[in-house]
Amino acid sequence: MDIALSDDLRAFQMEVRTFLEDSLSPEIREAARLCTTIVPEHGATMAWHGILYRKGWVAPNWPEEHGGPGWNVVQRYIFARECARAGVPRQWPGGLSLVGPAIMGYGSAEQKAYYLPRILSGEDLWCQGYSEPGSGSDLASLQCRADREGDDYVINGSKIWTSYAHYANRMFCLVRTSMEGKPQAGITFLLLEMDTPGIRVEPIHIMGGDHEFNRVFFQDVRVPQSNRVGAENEGWTVAKYLLEFERGGDARAARQRTRLVEARRLATARRKSDGRSLLEEPGFAADLASLEIELDTVEFTELRAMAEIAKRGNPGTASSMLKTRATEVQMAISELAMRAIAYYAAPHQPEERLAGANLEPIGQRDEMSITARYLNDRAASIYAGSNEIQRNIMAKMVLGM
Ligand SMILES: Cc1cc2nc3c(=O)[nH]c(=O)nc-3n(C[C@H](O)[C@H](O)[C@H](O)COP(=O)(O)OP(=O)(O)OC[C@H]3O[C@@H](n4cnc5c(N)ncnc54)[C@H](O)[C@@H]3O)c2cc1C
Repeated sequence: MDIALSDDLRAFQMEVRTFLEDSLSPEIREAARLCTTIVPEHGATMAWHGILYRKGWVAPNWPEEHGGPGWNVVQRYIFARECARAGVPRQWPGGLSLVGPAIMGYGSAEQKAYYLPRILSGEDLWCQGYSEPGSGSDLASLQCRADREGDDYVINGSKIWTSYAHYANRMFCLVRTSMEGKPQAGITFLLLEMDTPGIRVEPIHIMGGDHEFNRVFFQDVRVPQSNRVGAENEGWTVAKYLLEFERGGDARAARQRTRLVEARRLATARRKSDGRSLLEEPGFAADLASLEIELDTVEFTELRAMAEIAKRGNPGTASSMLKTRATEVQMAISELAMRAIAYYAAPHQPEERLAGANLEPIGQRDEMSITARYLNDRAASIYAGSNEIQRNIMAKMVLGM
């Protein structure tokens, strides 16, 4: 396979590189570097969103008619790689990567005209109301119900593990509208505003000490029927379509490459009592080399998913393969980084790793996030559909088992 870039693409790459170098403030860079969850500290995430929006590059994967930059699949990949290389903050995926494509695919003309520009501008932040206590992998068993009353649905129930519900002003949500037939056949896809009376958001703190997700309670929450995407009881189709975007279409390999380079640097920097670096230890060096190779395989799987998007408009089953391999490698890399900093992994110093903190850390400042990232990364094989479920999908859809 010829993977050399043409002159045009090389020029594009330089344009992106220059823009990123000129636009990233030290504060945004630091927030991204210290990030231990999906996206960095909220202020920095939104500041970066605004910069990309003003440049017209906030939604690289969107079609031009909806405000995307009109890039082809290779340009999108180059952009994602350059972003990872420059250490830009990851963007919150709720609107841009999840509900945005779902509205494009299944929304009405009015919904497209209203919601898509607001996602681009950052005016709307979306959270995902899928999981419930007792309905995670078996999502179709969800019980949060919506009953028709006049022009509205009235929602009662709860959602759990709702990332960023404490920042989001909107939620896309799966609700039960019928108990007839198969569980999948009674689900409806709704869009709602988080300040609607009857919604309560309670924080859940994760193992690394961060507040990323929440439990959300609904008591007699009224949502206009016009906020439905697709037909009543046909929300499962929209939900499945959206999940493919959640599991693919991203530049995971490039981001993890940055983490692996960081682990290598940390291992080189720390000297043991005999003056040698960890990198000189055959066991560590072999694990590092093996992860570098595995990351290459993730990168090529990513290219396959991109090719699928270019051909069919969505990543298809390649997204399950990518999600599984990419998260396995991600978890192994954060474990290697922990090994690299050895005893300095032990102190728990959440305040020191806030961007702009002036507290004196134990150990080096760039080691502060390693442990929290390792702990939070344990969730990578669970969120966006657990890796066991991805294997079930591959067995059925790819192998025909
Ligand atoms: C960090 C994080 C962020 C999240 N953010 C959101 C969010 O914003 N919105 C949202 O709706 N949800 C969110 N989730 C929830 C996530 O989608 C669920 O945790 C996930 O789908 C698994 O569901 P569960 O936790 O109920 O586990 P369960 O479904 O109870 O699974 C428990 C274990 O059993 C295994 N298992 C279950 N069924 C099978 C099977 N059929 N075959 C083989 N193995 C099986 C699973 O792989 C897992 O290991 C988030 C989760 C995490 C960890």
